[in-house]
Amino acid sequence: MTADRMLTVEEAQEIVLDSVSVSGIERVPLSESQGRVLAEDVAPRFDVPPHDNSSVDGYAVWAADTTGSSADTPCRLEVLEEIPAGTVPAVRVGPGKASRIMTGAFLPEGADAVVMVENTRQDEEDVEVLKAVSPGQNVRYRGEDVRQGQRVLFGGAEIGPGEIGLLAAFQRSQVSVRRRPVVAVLSTGDEVVEIDERLEPGKIVNSNSYSLSALVRECNGRPVNLGIAGDSESEIAEAIRSALSADVVLSTGGVSVGDYDYVKKVLEDLGADMRFWRVKMKPGKPLAYGMLQGKPFFGLPGNPVSCMVSFLLFARPAMRKMMGYGPHDWRLPTVQAELENDLTAGGDRRHYLRARITCTGGRFHASTVAGQGSGMLSSMTGTNGLVIVETGVTSISRGAEVSVLLMGAAGQAVS
Ligand code: AMP
Ligand code: MG
Repeated sequence: MTADRMLTVEEAQEIVLDSVSVSGIERVPLSESQGRVLAEDVAPRFDVPPHDNSSVDGYAVWAADTTGSSADTPCRLEVLEEIPAGTVPAVRVGPGKASRIMTGAFLPEGADAVVMVENTRQDEEDVEVLKAVSPGQNVRYRGEDVRQGQRVLFGGAEIGPGEIGLLAAFQRSQVSVRRRPVVAVLSTGDEVVEIDERLEPGKIVNSNSYSLSALVRECNGRPVNLGIAGDSESEIAEAIRSALSADVVLSTGGVSVGDYDYVKKVLEDLGADMRFWRVKMKPGKPLAYGMLQGKPFFGLPGNPVSCMVSFLLFARPAMRKMMGYGPHDWRLPTVQAELENDLTAGGDRRHYLRARITCTGGRFHASTVAGQGSGMLSSMTGTNGLVIVETGVTSISRGAEVSVLLMGAAGQAVS
C-alpha cells in the first residue's frame, strides 16, 4: 500500500495500469463492431480478390499479339465472347483472339492483359487494337490485395471503416472484440442536486455525472449513472456496493480532507485495497485509487475540471488497457506545440492548462484559455488540449515550445 505519499502523475498512472487487465472477448455482428478493439488475428479464407480480373472495360488479349500496335498500324483480333462482371468466361483466349471484358470481370484463361476500350475500334466480329499493351497491364491478380491465410488484421487494432470494409471482403459477418467495460458513475455531496431538481440556495447542479458519462462514452465504455449519494457513510456505502456489478467504478467528490469527505472512510470499511490518495497535479490532487472486490475504483475530485482531467489521465488509460489497446494507445497522445500566449503557473506541482490547439503551417499551436480554476467548467469547452507545465516552472513566454496532451477527437486523430 502506497498510502499517503503524494505520487507523481507517472507513478500513479503506472499503479493504475498495473492493477487492471484486459477484458474478456465477445463476438459481435460486423455492423456493430465499429470503434471496438479486435480480439483476434484475421486472415481471409480465400484470396482477395478471388480471381484475376480486369481493371478496365476493354478487350482481354495476348499482350504479345499487340506488340507494335498503334492507330496507324493496328493489330486485328477476332472477338470470341463478351464477359460481363459476375460471369465466368466460356472460352480460352488464344493467339489472334480477344474477348470483350468489363471492369471487375473474370479474366479469361490465356489472356495476360487487357486493352482499354478507348484504345480499340470494333467492327462486326473483330477488334482493332490501337495501342500495344504489356503482360499484366490492366489486370488485377487473384490474391494481390490479401492472400488466403495471410494475417493482415491483428488483435489490438481498433476497428474503423477500413477494417470493416476488409472484414466484409473476407465475409466475416461476426468478429471477436474486447468487451466494453461497464463504468458506474456516482456523484457524492449534500449540496449536489439533479439537473431537473429545484436549485435551492446553497446547492449546485450535478454536472460531474454527465461530463464523466460522456467521457466514458467517448472512449467507448458503457456508463451507468448511479445518481447522487449524500454526505453520509451509509448512503455512500450503499451506493458503492450497488456499483460493484460494474467493471470500473467512478465516484466524484468527498475524497479531500473536509469534514464531510466520507469516501475514504467508506472504502476502508468496505475492505478496499487503496493504492493512493493524492497525486501531485493541478487541477486534481485529491484522487483516491484502489481495488474494491477486484474492481478498479477511482475516487475522483468533486471540482468539475479536476474530475474530468483526472478521468483523462487515469481512468481513460485503464479503460483503454482493459479494452485491448496496446500500451502506446493507453494515454492521451502528447505533441509539441508553440505557445501563443504568455502563461503563469504555481510551480508547486505539475499544471495541466486547458488550451485550444490548432495546426497551421505544419506546426501545432497552443493558446491557453482564461479561467483555469478547477471549478471553471467553461474551460473544458472549445478546448482540445492540456498544456503541461512542470513542477518548478512558474512562467512560460509566448513562442516557447510546450508539451500538450491532446483530448477528444484531436487526440484520436494523432494517436
Ligand atoms: P468535494 O471534493 O466533495 O469537496 O467537492 C469539491 C467541489 O466540487 C465542491 O465545490 C463541490 O460542490 C463540487 N462538486 C462536487 N460534486 C459535484 C458534482 N457532481 N457536480 C458538480 N460539482 C460538484
Ligand atoms: Mg463533497
